[in-house]
Amino acid sequence: MLLKDPNQVPESRTIKYVDVIIPVPIPKRYRYAIPKELEPYVHIGFRVVVQFGERRLLTAIVAEVLENPPEHYQAKYILDVLDFEPTVNATQLQLWKWIADYYMCTVGEVMNIAIPSGLKLTSTSKVQLNPEFNYFEHEMELNPHEDKLLNHLRGVNAVPYDQVSEILGIKSVYQVIKSLIKRRAIILFEEVKEKYKPKKIKKIRLRDAYLESEQAMEELFASLSKKTKQEEILLKYLSELPVLSRPELNREGLEKTEITHGGFSTSSLNTLLKNQIFEEFEVVQSRLDEMEESVTVEAYDFTLNDIQAGALDDILEIFKERDVCLLHGITGSGKTEVYIELVKKVLANGSQVLLMVPEIVLTAQMVVRLRKVFGESVGIYHSKFSDNERVEVWKGVAEGKFPFVVGVRSSLFLPFDNLGLVIVDEEHESSYKQYDPAPRYHARDMAVVLAKLHHAKVLLGSATPSVESYYLAKTQKYGLVELKQRYGNAQLPAIHFADIRKERKRKTMKSEFSSLLLDGIKESLNLNEQVILFQNRRGYAPFLTCEECAWTPKCNQCSVSLTYHMYRNELRCHYCGYREPAPKHCIACGSSKVKTVGVGTEKIEEELKVLLPETRIQRMDLDTTKRKYSYQKIISDFENQQIDILIGTQMVSKGLDFDHVSLVGVFDVDRMIHFPDFRSHERTFQLITQVSGRAGRREKLGKVIIQTANPNQLILQHVFNHDYWSFFKREVWERKQYLYPPFTRIVKLSVKSESRELTDHAAEQLAVYLRGRIGQKRVLGPEFPVIDKIRNQYLKDLIVKLERGKVDLVKAKTLIAEQIERLRQQKGFRKVYIVVDVDPA
Ligand code: ADP
Ligand code: ZN
Ligand code: ZN
Repeated sequence: MLLKDPNQVPESRTIKYVDVIIPVPIPKRYRYAIPKELEPYVHIGFRVVVQFGERRLLTAIVAEVLENPPEHYQAKYILDVLDFEPTVNATQLQLWKWIADYYMCTVGEVMNIAIPSGLKLTSTSKVQLNPEFNYFEHEMELNPHEDKLLNHLRGVNAVPYDQVSEILGIKSVYQVIKSLIKRRAIILFEEVKEKYKPKKIKKIRLRDAYLESEQAMEELFASLSKKTKQEEILLKYLSELPVLSRPELNREGLEKTEITHGGFSTSSLNTLLKNQIFEEFEVVQSRLDEMEESVTVEAYDFTLNDIQAGALDDILEIFKERDVCLLHGITGSGKTEVYIELVKKVLANGSQVLLMVPEIVLTAQMVVRLRKVFGESVGIYHSKFSDNERVEVWKGVAEGKFPFVVGVRSSLFLPFDNLGLVIVDEEHESSYKQYDPAPRYHARDMAVVLAKLHHAKVLLGSATPSVESYYLAKTQKYGLVELKQRYGNAQLPAIHFADIRKERKRKTMKSEFSSLLLDGIKESLNLNEQVILFQNRRGYAPFLTCEECAWTPKCNQCSVSLTYHMYRNELRCHYCGYREPAPKHCIACGSSKVKTVGVGTEKIEEELKVLLPETRIQRMDLDTTKRKYSYQKIISDFENQQIDILIGTQMVSKGLDFDHVSLVGVFDVDRMIHFPDFRSHERTFQLITQVSGRAGRREKLGKVIIQTANPNQLILQHVFNHDYWSFFKREVWERKQYLYPPFTRIVKLSVKSESRELTDHAAEQLAVYLRGRIGQKRVLGPEFPVIDKIRNQYLKDLIVKLERGKVDLVKAKTLIAEQIERLRQQKGFRKVYIVVDVDPA
């Protein structure tokens, strides 16, 4: 595939050039020359291979075909073309450009996250003989290269695309391959389609006999005392799974590869298996399809009730005049059903539909419902899909196999060519915002842009709309449709407050549980109903501290204390992932009085197990849902009432629809309310309303118990009254007072470096520059953020506030970019990195 020398002088005088997009964060245009023989095959949106720098080969996208050479350098040749059809269409390129401009990054950075890496790695493409083709029956004129390739393939069947040039000894193989494909002699395919095959995992566990008594275990160790390698494996096993204190973990076992890839001796492991110390077993890790089948949904046909049908009519009416409509429908009002009817109409017109959801793992139930209605025409774009799976969906969309896509934020980037409607479900969700890497885009906002490029409509749906969207609706920029009743006879749950300050005084608290909540839980369980408990912090406790000297273990790389995780008796940093075993004694003074402070999901779980020993309790948070489909197992177990109480972080708040949940308990709400961020009230209102919405979704009235030290806080009163409107009015008033969105746009600049002094100095300097150009009052800070060191990088933040209607946004961003560049040009600041976040969430 490679030209031998990409620098060689062009042979033809009428040479053409391309500007390409390269997935790098350098804001430059890259122009390459097209070798003559490739000229007919180079088009906008095609992938080409280029040499970048001295050694790197990159897949680039053709953005423009031109007549002129670059001005200041000698163009290199592109080395090959990888496509027969464009990978990226013109509208996608427009969207990339839009995003790069708006979020102040390069188009290359957008490309980097927009395209599945499977389309960037040329080595996944393989060339194979077409099994349906018999050459001997066809008379085919073959040139020597074609002949050579076919002969080679007869021997090996398939070769990677990028080895073909070596095999043929020529620079560009595109023509050879194209002509053979055209005659159906060979096919090109992307490797590995393991998609829906269930995956089997080989595991090992200790034979039960060794766990029966301490003596058995001691004898086992004694028998291995001279067999160091086997002993090492046993120790590794015991350190990964503390089965001595928690024998039930032994059932789960350990993946065999964790041992074999961990540098432990494979033959020693085999000996342990042969000697029946360990036993081997297999588990089937289910894939999406199987999980879908296990989630029970009967045939799903429904007719909209009058209220829902009215809402649908209103939406259609609004779409005649406006491009965006906000559907504010309380939890359980049947927004999904309205979406479905709307989608049917748009698909019937022959247009494509994109339904965005904050996180598919949490919307499994909705995906199941959609599959029941739309069958195989639904493409699913999932954040936990492998790259091959992503490539498949990408191609399916391009080929028209999936006119309807349900996906997470990155589904914006799929190759739609005829989009008629974008629905953004739970539009208020902060997971629509990408934090890292650039582009730090907000998928809801970009959905509006994408729709505009396609002349399509946008429906934003939420029970708790973002202040921004509701404001736009109230000021007539968006249409607004409200669903104020739950479907059927279901009522919104009754909210109760458990005043933990009073209960603490009266000594009626049982550790973290108020008597109100504990009694409520018992009452629900007695009626065979289920309970959801919400604690928005994972782990056991946010930190440890020594009672004697106040020492607290902190992360070496970040300025945070380490979170205690009881399950593995470990301390972990939630920012960089660092772990270490929990100390038994204080490292500073040696005291053994090390205690935990604060509460996480694990602690709630542990305490509840003591308080209600007979109850089936399950925790759902990041730590229990690492495996690809473990969350779905938890959800279906809960649906099937094999779990009585589900404890979780915000994961339990979203989009779940259960029949038998009558009580929702909320812990630690005060911490959420007082979190230092202008959105903390909005977030609190949204989170509690959403998690409350899981209760009482059928005939019976549900109940929510919120534990707080002060039930009189205004925001809690709005929650109590299910009063979005009052919440909104108050919030808008405050945002206007203090100049926050929607009245301003915020650009956050985080200055980052390996030295605190350097960061500090650079941030101060940048502030001076910005104040000079943008205006004194528009620049806030710099300030050290609460966590001012992450992964050994020191941080200091600046906030730029740009008033809507007063400031020209494009100009302001140009000025900001110039000041950043000015700073970076200074010698002392070369090692400073500046992260730009437009509209931080
Ligand atoms: P939302 O997304 O607004 O919270 P859902 O769409 O999940 O609400 O609807 C709540 C429940 O009511 C679901 O179980 C759903 O199947 C049921 N439901 C809503 N509308 C209808 C309808 N028209 N016919 C039958 N069931 C409905
Ligand atoms: Zn101490
Ligand atoms: Zn850390």
